[in-house]
Amino acid sequence: LIVPGADGEAIPAPFSALSGQFAPSADLNDRVVVWRGDITRLKIDAIVNAANNSLLGGGGVDGAIHAAAGPDLLEECIGLRGCETGDCKITRGYRLPAKHVLHTVGPIYHRRNEEEAQAELVSCYERCMECAVANEVRTVAFCAISTGVYGYPSKAAAVEATRTVRRLLEDERYAGKIDRVVFVTFVQNDVQAYDIALPLAFPPV
Ligand code: ADP
Repeated sequence: LIVPGADGEAIPAPFSALSGQFAPSADLNDRVVVWRGDITRLKIDAIVNAANNSLLGGGGVDGAIHAAAGPDLLEECIGLRGCETGDCKITRGYRLPAKHVLHTVGPIYHRRNEEEAQAELVSCYERCMECAVANEVRTVAFCAISTGVYGYPSKAAAVEATRTVRRLLEDERYAGKIDRVVFVTFVQNDVQAYDIALPLAFPPV
């Protein structure tokens, strides 16, 4: 099955692979939402930062999070001594309305082959969810990891994001531990990507 994109263009591989894969679930659907806006404004247990390996700040969402959280965040990040690609490290949120920041490092798309990039992106979502549960984070907001300067195609990234979260929410290790996952979109490309990807991973009941 080929699912048409928002712009009317046929999207081949990842979307068709997802279609029909997941059963409708009212309970799971109630726990996910797509929200468009600035992730630094969210009052939530944790927001996810698309950081770089140094964890010492950067552009994009990373810069916005450090600017809003203030210098104490950088101080805590210095103590963490970096983060591997596909891994996650947690800090406090400091001046952010969010209590915690889950810093993850997505793949730089053009430096990886397709399978490696996909595996690393999936790992980011898995490790963030593991880290959330380990720290009693019950509500978490993900930005669209790697889809900015790291160049991951936004539609393929939205498929990985939504299907990975779907798989984890169904996993018994997560049962009763995560109340809400927010997929934060910022640019129009991601809005369109999640418009298609979310109902495939979380089909309407
Ligand atoms: P990466 O290096 O992982 O690609 P970027 O920060 O360049 O990270 O982009 C990741 C995603 O975060 C992109 O979809 C970008 O549009 C989005 N983004 C940038 N600023 C914000 C923000 N303040 N709130 C939410 N999302 C943001």
